[in-house]
Amino acid sequence: MRLSRYFLPILKENPKEAEIVSHRLMLRAGMIRQQAAGIYSWLPLGKRVLEKVNAIIREEQDRTGAIEILMPTIQSAELWKESGRYDDYGLEMLRINDRQERPMLYGPTNEEMVTDIFRSYVRSYKDLPLNLYHIQLKFRDEIRPRFGTMRSREFLMKDAYSFDIDQDAARRAYNKMFVAYLRTFSRMGLSAVPMRADTGPIGGDLSHEFIILADTGESEVFCHRDYLGFDIPDETTDFQDAGALQAIVDKWTSLYAATSEMHDADAFAAVAEDARLSARGIEVGHIFYFGTKYSEPMGAKVMGPDGKEHLVHMGSYGIGPTRLVPAIIEASHDENGIIWPKSVAPYDVSIINMKVGDGACDSASEKLYSELEAAGLDVLYDDRDERAGAKFATADLIGIPQQIVVGPRSIANGEVEIKDRKTGERENMTLEAAVNRLV
Ligand code: ATP
Ligand code: MG
Ligand code: MG
Ligand code: MG
Repeated sequence: MRLSRYFLPILKENPKEAEIVSHRLMLRAGMIRQQAAGIYSWLPLGKRVLEKVNAIIREEQDRTGAIEILMPTIQSAELWKESGRYDDYGLEMLRINDRQERPMLYGPTNEEMVTDIFRSYVRSYKDLPLNLYHIQLKFRDEIRPRFGTMRSREFLMKDAYSFDIDQDAARRAYNKMFVAYLRTFSRMGLSAVPMRADTGPIGGDLSHEFIILADTGESEVFCHRDYLGFDIPDETTDFQDAGALQAIVDKWTSLYAATSEMHDADAFAAVAEDARLSARGIEVGHIFYFGTKYSEPMGAKVMGPDGKEHLVHMGSYGIGPTRLVPAIIEASHDENGIIWPKSVAPYDVSIINMKVGDGACDSASEKLYSELEAAGLDVLYDDRDERAGAKFATADLIGIPQQIVVGPRSIANGEVEIKDRKTGERENMTLEAAVNRLV
């Protein structure tokens, strides 16, 4: 992409409404635009990051055997009356009437709808286990939307729903998601700690929140420090090996970790003092096992091997991609801007042409641009007629992991400079060496 033809509305001033660094940087880097309280558009740069985050989530969901669908945002109130949640959900639910005066709602979550899909088609235990997920907008009329897309009213959620014949099988489904979540957040450069959590309006009895420690987090959490150094299960993990998954979950639940709602001060006091971590955190994911809470009122049953009907045991598993983007920035930035981990960076490399119009700079930049693109990299070429200083500031602000600086002095020696956004290290090398380094 040539920056001169891109749509990157960078803000020079710090937006006053932004209280935390990620919100400030997302606005300044032209990633998002607020359209109403807690409702955002994703601009091109932001959209690219969001899609990278979604792609990682998808890969890790698919790895477990979960299957992607897409359910609508608007739901009929009927289903929610069946489960009993239409009255229970309260003011967070945005309720609407259609022209027929039929009560509808903008879905805050999809347990009812997916249970309806399940009961309409699945009849036998032989079709289980089944896990259906989608990545779709949700609406919750949050009392205090704030921090940009960290707590918005309309937000994206990946929500998966598992269906199993009994509690043991449901536990295996839960473990798959637990391990997939460890991998998902780690691939985004985040250390997420699974913590015992309250189940809230979703209901149920087994639940973990995945928490990123951050001073700006809204949750108060307590955990054993050693979790931060635990190894993440690698890509050879066999999701069909129930024993191996249980061992991973056992290890990741062996030490103390709880959100404030589930906190047990006495148990925490028993943890060695220097290992006790009492901190603030961001909830980026939440998994639940809730048994027959929805299958019972909604009549989702399958025929078992015993020839009898069984209510299915369900779980649900949420991740917030539009919250993850700011969470990644909270964890990775400096005074000059965002520092994207490679895995979610909107572009792999930016080329900074310091002197547009200078024949040698232009031709070297064009050559790098076409060679890197041909090698499959996502390249942002700053070909704008701007001061070099402004270009450096933009590149640092938007946080592309590698910068190639093409300046008249070094190009006279046939060289360019490569700068690593994270370490700040700079190195001069020939064009050819630069291409070889990056591809
Ligand atoms: P919170 O405690 O922050 O209000 P929640 O517990 O209500 O979140 P869940 O119902 O567990 O949220 O939803 C699953 C995931 O969806 C959360 O872990 C979070 O990543 C994301 N999420 C929930 N509410 C919001 C929101 N208002 N804005 C952005 N993401 C959200
Ligand atoms: Mg909430
Ligand atoms: Mg919560
Ligand atoms: Mg939650």
